[in-house]
Amino acid sequence: MAKTKKHERKRILFIYTGGTIGMRQDPKTGALKPVDFNTITEHVQELKRLDCQFGFHAFPVPIDSSNVSPDLWDVLARTIEKNYTSYDGFVILHGTDTMAYTASALSFMFEGLSKPIIITGSQLPLGKLRTDARRNIVSAAEIAVSKTVVPEVCIYFNNQLFRGNRSEKHTSSKFDAFQSLNFPPLAEAGVDIEFNTDHMLSVSRKKFTVHYGFDTNVALIKIYPGIHTDVIDTTLRTRGLKAVVIETFGSGNAPTHPEFLRVLKSAIDRGVILVNVSQCSGGSVDQGKYQTSYHLQKIGVISGKDMTTEAAITKLMFLLAHEKSSTMLNKKYQQSLRGELTDI
Ligand code: ASP
Repeated sequence: MAKTKKHERKRILFIYTGGTIGMRQDPKTGALKPVDFNTITEHVQELKRLDCQFGFHAFPVPIDSSNVSPDLWDVLARTIEKNYTSYDGFVILHGTDTMAYTASALSFMFEGLSKPIIITGSQLPLGKLRTDARRNIVSAAEIAVSKTVVPEVCIYFNNQLFRGNRSEKHTSSKFDAFQSLNFPPLAEAGVDIEFNTDHMLSVSRKKFTVHYGFDTNVALIKIYPGIHTDVIDTTLRTRGLKAVVIETFGSGNAPTHPEFLRVLKSAIDRGVILVNVSQCSGGSVDQGKYQTSYHLQKIGVISGKDMTTEAAITKLMFLLAHEKSSTMLNKKYQQSLRGELTDI
């Protein structure tokens, strides 16, 4: 096959943050630790067959994604913004543990996206015999420069492309580490890569804009049978706290005993925003369906609808940093900003 002329070749920027994909065993402790790598094609030679031009940007110190913070989301977004016009697509290599948080956070930061931003990683390091890194990287790269443009922040893992802010890591031991139960995959890689264009966001006509900054004065409370209201109250009284995601049961249900509701109501009266998301990975919060969620609605808890916890918490941090009016924040929180929830 004739090679495309250099200036016509599509361009991909790889951004390496760390994670299992680039880890190696410490000979002394046996624990996996991140190693530096300088270019991607050195390690994944197959990429050379893609007939593309590659750029590579590695974080100065690769990190395990458990150390990801909103500052890193800003750094990632800045790297993409600086290179946005020079590349056709972006592939971020990232640890799997917090990949869904990063994907959600970036999705909110980028407005007017017209190019793919594909985040991938692996369950086994690149150097291991049965590694899943190679196929994840190669397919993510193919998607990043595909004729079918996916103008979204996505996660590609184990043959599936998911909307980033709809994904969650659901297993630490199998190759299909991610799932998206409330939204269909945007593409599936079999013999061909089949794109699900009906479900993609459309290429934006808006100017590409990056919104920087997150307000981390938030908390996450997971309800369980027997939870002490003191625990909830103490969390809700944390100094500077502005908003809390409460992970409830089923379709948004929680205990109905008066002390529990009093503690929540008192936080709302103090101006703390409370959001209800479900502990279930699939389905939606439906406040008022059962008596056990009706009370939450009555005291002013906001429904997080069918958002993942990762999307719910990063969206809160994002809106707290960018919306000064709480009425506006409330309204925007319940609307789909980047396809993260089903508007019903
Ligand atoms: N601990 C690793 C990380 O998230 C796990 C992985 O990459 O799969 O950075």
